[in-house]
Parts: sequence; structure tokens; C-alpha cells
Amino acid sequence: MLNKFQKFFYSKILGRKYYRTGHCLGCGRCCKKIYVKHAKGIIQDEKEFENLKYQHRFYTYLKVIDKDETGLVFECTNLDPETHKCKIHKTRPGICRRYPQEELFSMGGALSEDCGYKMEPIIPFSEVFLTIQKKSQPEKKSFFQKLFKISK
Ligand code: SF4
Ligand code: SF4
Repeated sequence: MLNKFQKFFYSKILGRKYYRTGHCLGCGRCCKKIYVKHAKGIIQDEKEFENLKYQHRFYTYLKVIDKDETGLVFECTNLDPETHKCKIHKTRPGICRRYPQEELFSMGGALSEDCGYKMEPIIPFSEVFLTIQKKSQPEKKSFFQKLFKISK
């Protein structure tokens, strides 16, 4: 659970809505089903992808394994199929080191069910709900507070 300072720092300074908890279990799933998004959206054809290879070394590691309704599906060639470990773990790109980030959700992605990480909302839904409730029903709130005090 984040303390008040952490909440303020993440949400107001960094502009985040989620924070990461947990740890990597080394299953390798996130290196097997990858969509690539760039300025124009999720990559749909290989020609478009070829141009990206000159922009970042991460793209040179990927190979197309499928295409679905979202776009081309890639797998990373650095994933050892036997051990499910990254063959270049020490020098892996920043995008892999930072995984998962909340941008994943804005891109329409999701964590795999068995992933050891979880993305928790910085301000839990219950808190958001209470704030909205307080703002919309100030009179009701004081009524309940009085009731609570009397019954104590
Ligand atoms: S470089 Fe390593 S960590 Fe990054 S996607 Fe490939 S196998 Fe996974
Ligand atoms: S899916 Fe999650 S647990 Fe599995 S390798 Fe990726 S980050 Fe680690």
C-alpha cells in the first residue's frame, strides 16, 4: 500500500494512475505474444514493420508468428524456448526492463493471467467512490455521521 507522499508523487508529479506490485516469475509469456505500437497505431503488416527495425534494436529481435484482429503478433527471438529465460537478460532493452508499465493498458494490452506482477490503482476505487459520494451528498453524510455518534 502506498503512503500519502508516494500517492502524491506518482499521481501528481508522474501523472500515473497505476503502480506496479509483485515480481517476475520468469514464465516468459510476455516475450511470446507481443504487439508493436508506433505513431500510426498497432503494426498490421510486415512492410511497415521492416521500417521500424532501423529505429530501435528491440524491433530487430522480433519475428512475426501470427496475425489476429488486433494486428501482427510477434515473438522475441531472444527467449530461450527451453528455459523460458531471456538470452540477453543483462543487456535487454529498457522497454523490457520497465515492463509492465501502465501504457500497456492504454495500448489495449493486458498482463497475462499468471504474471507475477499486478498493476494496482494509485487511488483505489473505494476512495474515488467515497470522494464522489461526499461531493454529491453532503447533507446525507452529516446525517449518517450523527447517527454513528449517537449509536456509539
Ligand atoms: S529481449 Fe529478452 S526480455 Fe526482452 S522481449 Fe526479448 S526475451 Fe523478452
Ligand atoms: S509474464 Fe510476467 S511473470 Fe511472466 S516473464 Fe513476463 S513479467 Fe515475468
